[in-house]
Amino acid sequence: MKVVRTSAELRDALPAGSIGLVPTMGAFHAGHLSLFGAAREENDVVVVSLYVNPAQFGAREDLDRYPRDEARDLELAAEAGVDVVFAPDRLYAPEHSTWVEVERLSDILEGEFRPRHFRGVATVCLKLFNIVRPQRAYFGQKDAQQAAVIKRMVADLDLDLEIRVLPIVRDADGLALSSRNAYLSPEERERALALPRALATKDEARARELLSDLDVDYVEVAELDGQRVLAAAVRVGETRLIDNVVLEGENA
Ligand code: AMP
Repeated sequence: MKVVRTSAELRDALPAGSIGLVPTMGAFHAGHLSLFGAAREENDVVVVSLYVNPAQFGAREDLDRYPRDEARDLELAAEAGVDVVFAPDRLYAPEHSTWVEVERLSDILEGEFRPRHFRGVATVCLKLFNIVRPQRAYFGQKDAQQAAVIKRMVADLDLDLEIRVLPIVRDADGLALSSRNAYLSPEERERALALPRALATKDEARARELLSDLDVDYVEVAELDGQRVLAAAVRVGETRLIDNVVLEGENA
């Protein structure tokens, strides 16, 4: 497995063949590994990008304390059969001025609470698609709204790649795997289980009741890329968690 830091190095490291890209921010868990596995099955070359994208964090969010463990991530990626890890030190020129705004879809759910989040996500993904030139890119249903935003951008800007969305990987207790779960104390983790339990009811009113002891940003049914999902974001202590279930559409 090659580890490269610049787009020039990446170009040199890429063998011939179809490319599957998995964009990540690191701190790998089984959710990431499922995307690597799917990319491995469907492409000749698997590229994983590892970059904690400052543009998708708000001023009061957790950019500075986001979990980072590159050595461990590289071991896990190598074991998963990844060919190239693209881990740039920075992706934006100091004078960076161009942003991708996916209107409407970026304003609901997460967008209401993280105003410039999806502009940062869409922009970094477009930059990664241009640098890596993948035939397929892999995203998790865990971030259902993100996947829908990226699909909208790909359709709207006529990008020539396929977006693949893989199911949510959960721990045995039902909590969706997330790099941010590392922030939870054992007591907080216990309280966080209300989130998957509430969503499992597939009923907005019932879910709201079951989440009444937590600090809820939203519990809402929304239409995302032809899927109807029940999605929620809650804060447990200092940690913000999101999760969703599909009510109608693919994977319901
Ligand atoms: P992140 O490193 O958190 O930006 O996540 C990278 C990719 O992994 C995104 O497409 C996420 O949706 C996906 N992902 C994160 N957690 C999970 C999970 N529990 N199950 C499936 N995919 C996930």
